[in-house]
Amino acid sequence: MKKISLVVPCYNEQEVIKLFYKEIQKIKKDFKNVSFEIIFVNDGSKDKTLEIIRELSKNDDVRYLSFSRNFGKEAAMYAGLEASTGDYVAVMDADLQDPPALLHEMYEILESGEYDSVATRRVTRKGEPVIRSFFARMYYKIINKISKTEIVDGARDYRLMSRKMVDAVLSVQEYNRFSKGIFSWVGFRTKWLEYENAKRAAGESKWSFGKLFLYSLDSIVAFSTVPLSIASVMGILFCFVAFLMIIFVIVRTLMYGDPTSGWPSMVCIMFFIGGVQLLCIGIIGQYLSKTYLEVKKRPIYIVAEKKKDKKNG
Ligand code: UDP
Ligand code: MG
Repeated sequence: MKKISLVVPCYNEQEVIKLFYKEIQKIKKDFKNVSFEIIFVNDGSKDKTLEIIRELSKNDDVRYLSFSRNFGKEAAMYAGLEASTGDYVAVMDADLQDPPALLHEMYEILESGEYDSVATRRVTRKGEPVIRSFFARMYYKIINKISKTEIVDGARDYRLMSRKMVDAVLSVQEYNRFSKGIFSWVGFRTKWLEYENAKRAAGESKWSFGKLFLYSLDSIVAFSTVPLSIASVMGILFCFVAFLMIIFVIVRTLMYGDPTSGWPSMVCIMFFIGGVQLLCIGIIGQYLSKTYLEVKKRPIYIVAEKKKDKKNG
């Protein structure tokens, strides 16, 4: 008998958790000889999420972890994967934007033994603000240019993985986690399923535009060092331009006897160079700050309360 673990990060999801549980019960009948384990990870919710999870955990197929505060979805996924005991493990959002109906197909594909992971990507961005889609597309273009790790456009975190792959993902212990990158970085054979974007069942998205923007910057720092070379490239370029300018000024002075004049152009150049220097220092600072956080080796999450698997005590 095979076991599937569903890892569900939850942050203020009181409206949808019960609905999610019900939907999972519905799809269970498609599976033969498979047991389920649902692991809710309460990521420091401020509403009734934890109470609802506790109540649901009276069912045998539900376990939960509850964080001491909000650590973010990445930490919640990591904790859930670590707690999972299934042969196959899926990461799913609580809001039913990751259609549970796909699980059966994913399971069949993994069972055939050809793949280690079945991932999903949405092919439409319907129901999303136009500006957001535009920036999302730009982001994927840029990161795929400057990172060796492929980040698939529209990829969700929703995927079913074999135990082998889950263990590999867990072995990546970095503090600044960007799962889409880590899933791709660990390799293995992955099949992609496409589906149309679904609206949230209830409640609100936890991601503001600003939060997403910072998340995208973090992911660039985590998976590319190209921005660091910007300083070197600009340095070389500026030296070259400066060299041409020096020659120009010398020649002009010799030929026309005209000493360089005009402080406005000087001020502009100073501002420009100053700006470029600050930009480069800022980029280095980004990498330094991430390195600082990694070096501290703080735990990725802290559990305040949990219900463990019976077998493991
Ligand atoms: N989530 C979380 N911690 C956070 C933010 C979100 O565990 O700090 C969970 C949230 O409960 C949901 C999933 O991550 O199950 C995806 O969040 P959301 O639906 O808000 O993101 P979107 O689908 O809009 O990208
Ligand atoms: Mg969602």
